[in-house]
Amino acid sequence: MLFLPIANFVGFSTSVPFPSFSTMMPQILCFFVIEDFYHYWMHRLFHWGPIYKAIHKVHHEFTAPSGIATEYAHPLETLVFVLGVMLGPLSFCYYFGNVHVISMFFWITFKLCQSVEAHSGYDIPFSISYFFPLWANPDHHDYHHMAFVNNFASSFIVWDRLFGTDIKYQIYRNKRSQSNNKLPEVDLIEAFILRIKKIIKTIENVKKI
Ligand SMILES: [Zn+2]
Ligand SMILES: [Zn+2]
Repeated sequence: MLFLPIANFVGFSTSVPFPSFSTMMPQILCFFVIEDFYHYWMHRLFHWGPIYKAIHKVHHEFTAPSGIATEYAHPLETLVFVLGVMLGPLSFCYYFGNVHVISMFFWITFKLCQSVEAHSGYDIPFSISYFFPLWANPDHHDYHHMAFVNNFASSFIVWDRLFGTDIKYQIYRNKRSQSNNKLPEVDLIEAFILRIKKIIKTIENVKKI
């Protein structure tokens, strides 16, 4: 509702020709960096006692999340994080101009894919983290859901490393890599069915309330 007047104010382009990929990709990278920095600090704020209990606890109901849990959150949390998604394109356009609405479309698509990957629980072989080591793989956010501490950023590992909020995660990773106990083989179909059952159970519990 607010997006259109603000987009018009900052000068979003909506007409043809569409921008080239070489124009869009550096912009989308900037949107990722801006959103990630905003997300990091807002997420840390959401872990402050009263705010955690009132808002962020909903998202943390899943200690081992799946892709669909990405959007499972308190409406206020969703609003705050959606503002972060808008912040990049709007501020970039305000200061540098030349942002097309189609770039926004690609940005939101990439951002959703990143969020679903982070919550998927799968070590996807073609994950960006294998080509770009600063990218946070699903293990990064999985730890956050498991331990409720550390790893507040969404897309990159940079902010947590810089501000010292991945120390416990690093200790956990080191212990895990030194352990002789290999992770058990998981039947993917069985795991998928278990997750569906868990989601159905959660929906039933919500209905009872
Ligand atoms: Zn959290
Ligand atoms: Zn999460």
